Amino acid sequence: MRYSKSFIKTSHQAPKDAETASHRLLARGGFIYPLGAGFYSLLPMGFRVYQKIYDIITEELNRIGVEDMIMPVVHPARVWKETKRFFEVGPELWKIKNRFKEDFVLAMTHEEVITDAAKPIISSYKDLPKLVGHIQTKVRDEARARGGLLRTKEFTMQDAYSFDRDEEALDKSYQKFIKAYNNIFERVGIETIMIESDVGAMGGLGANEFMMIAKNGEDKIVVCKKCWHAVNADVLGISRESNAIRKGTKCPKCRSTNLTFKRGIEVGNIFKLGTKYSIPQKLFYTDERNKEHPVIMGSYGIGLERLLASVVEASHDKDGIIWPTSIAPYRVYLLGIDKKSAADKTYQQLTKAGVEVFYDDRDATAGEKFADADLLGIPYRATVSAKTKGKIELKKRGSKQVKLVTTSELARRIK
Ligand SMILES: [Zn+2]
Repeated sequence: MRYSKSFIKTSHQAPKDAETASHRLLARGGFIYPLGAGFYSLLPMGFRVYQKIYDIITEELNRIGVEDMIMPVVHPARVWKETKRFFEVGPELWKIKNRFKEDFVLAMTHEEVITDAAKPIISSYKDLPKLVGHIQTKVRDEARARGGLLRTKEFTMQDAYSFDRDEEALDKSYQKFIKAYNNIFERVGIETIMIESDVGAMGGLGANEFMMIAKNGEDKIVVCKKCWHAVNADVLGISRESNAIRKGTKCPKCRSTNLTFKRGIEVGNIFKLGTKYSIPQKLFYTDERNKEHPVIMGSYGIGLERLLASVVEASHDKDGIIWPTSIAPYRVYLLGIDKKSAADKTYQQLTKAGVEVFYDDRDATAGEKFADADLLGIPYRATVSAKTKGKIELKKRGSKQVKLVTTSELARRIK
């Protein structure tokens, strides 16, 4: 892609309300555009990162047997009334009416919708287990949308669902997802810990969250220094505002009182739903003796935009983003100094070799081009100038080392 043709405008100025590094850098780099508080467009540069995250998630879930589908964003309220969540969930559940004054709900999650869809499919023990999921828009009327992409009112979520005959089988499905989630987070380049969490509005038998440790994270985690078991502070009855662990609070696993606080960003959560949805929505199966039982369910979710922003929180410096290669929008940022024709030629050669290249062909100073290369965080910077005598100056983002290479070496090195 040529910079001059791209739908991008970078800026030295961060939005006034930007409190987090990811908000500042994604806005300055032209990855996102705020339509209003909590509503963002992903501009082309941001959408490329999003698509790479999308592919990694899909690949890892397909590997454990999750089959892809898609469910609607607008839900007739019937299913939400069956589980009573229509009445029980707070104002974050966005309710609308149609022209006939009938109730509808904007998808906050899809448990009710998937359970409804499973009814004609699952009726016997022979129909179990099943794993299914989708990546779809979610809408939540958050009281305080903040932090750029970290907390928005509309976002995309991968959510998957498991259907099993008993709790033992659910445990097996649950373990598969834990493995897949760990792979996903590792591949996008962040370190997470899995912690015990509150079941919250989802209900059920138990829940875990995947937390990325971050000093400005909004979640509080209590870690036991003896056995390293970690729990969400909510589980121990510690409020979000509190800065101290009450005297006498014990680790729920080993009963040690040697506990410490950490802050984190929640990047994924998984729930053992049990029969919370199957009973009210009447999703039953018959066993070998023709006896009827409710299906045991699990649900699993990762917010894509939040994950994207979390990677930026974890990987940046004062000049800009440092994308992990696996999800970088492009592989190389090419720029020419006083040698436009040579840079043009290199661009064509790299494109032909199948390298994802963002070519800064603007009529701008070297300083401006270098600044944008750092801000956008593309893993490699390639500079063509009269000084380099037919060779290309290659530099890795975040490193000071510069190497002189030929075009074919370049294509090989950065692939
Ligand atoms: Zn412990």
